[in-house]
Amino acid sequence: MPSRRDFLKTAAWTALGTALMPSVVRADESHPSLFHINQRVGTKPMMTLRFFPYELRLRHVFTVASYSRSTTPDIQVELEYDGVTGYGEASMPPYLQKELGTPQSVMTFLKQVQDTIGQFTDPFRMEDILTYIDGLSPGDSAAKAAVDIALHDLVGKLLQAPWYKLWGLNNEKAPFTTYTIGIDTPEVVRQKTEECAARFRILKVKLGRDNDQEMIETIRSVTDLPIAVDANQGWTDKHRALDMIHWLKEQGIVLVEQPMPKERLDDIAWVTQHSPLPIFADEAVQRLKDIPALKGAYTGINIKLMKCTGMREAWKMVTLARALDMGVMVGCMTETSCAISAAAQFSPAVDFADLDGSLLIANDRFKGMEVVEGKITLPERPGIGVVKC
Ligand SMILES: [Mg+2]
Repeated sequence: MPSRRDFLKTAAWTALGTALMPSVVRADESHPSLFHINQRVGTKPMMTLRFFPYELRLRHVFTVASYSRSTTPDIQVELEYDGVTGYGEASMPPYLQKELGTPQSVMTFLKQVQDTIGQFTDPFRMEDILTYIDGLSPGDSAAKAAVDIALHDLVGKLLQAPWYKLWGLNNEKAPFTTYTIGIDTPEVVRQKTEECAARFRILKVKLGRDNDQEMIETIRSVTDLPIAVDANQGWTDKHRALDMIHWLKEQGIVLVEQPMPKERLDDIAWVTQHSPLPIFADEAVQRLKDIPALKGAYTGINIKLMKCTGMREAWKMVTLARALDMGVMVGCMTETSCAISAAAQFSPAVDFADLDGSLLIANDRFKGMEVVEGKITLPERPGIGVVKC
């Protein structure tokens, strides 16, 4: 339902449009939009971009197979057009900056966008705008995602519809999200699991170290909830990887993400062929063009906005993976509810969701997608559905 504020805004614009009609509106324009009203009065609005660094503070020290950290560098983006603001963000966990861009390269990239975005006068020409943005550099996927998310938010707000509706998705089909239990001592893992088991319906565990079985057994001493496992390329021998996957199957694990280094495609294909569990690519897939080569080697792919340059390409990846009869999951970095809510917009179309990134930070700037009894719950709000806290 549109809010009273939306109603008043629409009424005001309609009144303004009506007042201007006699001199400037062609007869065929029966549904004036904000953009066309502005065209008529000869004051074409411009898109303007603002951005600023915003360090994300993690609630708990985060540990993956290779290292630990307590903050994530992030840059917040605002794209304004005709008094309407779309929000986006670039999150750059240090261990992924080679793929995503560094804070410095993202700032440089966004400055370039800021200086040139004014050449586009119609935000609805998203393909033109985002193709231009993508062409500005070969990498910087997080910076591209930030602009893409902000543009989607802006356009959704101008159309007064959330993206899940524009894509024709049923929000009731949004999946449960996993919640990640970080690698830690058995006591801490047990305590974290107890806290999470009451709030979530599926857990995720990072493996790929020498205490894999201990981690799973510790969690299993607390809960029987389904578990997704992410080895983060940590297993190096295909026979040992397959043995581990068979053991994990007996422990009620439902999915294994990136069991071995991404370069070992033949070994991974062998593991997938023999695996009793679905095997999903994460590090092995960044963008749309990576998907065809993975058909047969993995059961499915993990799509993350920061890797794939944003919502436009993510939606194309969902479509291509389905056409190739592959599974789809949506993942995230540590991010505010801005990028998380953007990714949640296509979650009704995926098999698994791992969208706990905003729950892991202590300084979220937005309210958006919520997790209700473990399930992703999409707000009715337009665009990506966020409001500032
Ligand atoms: Mg992963």
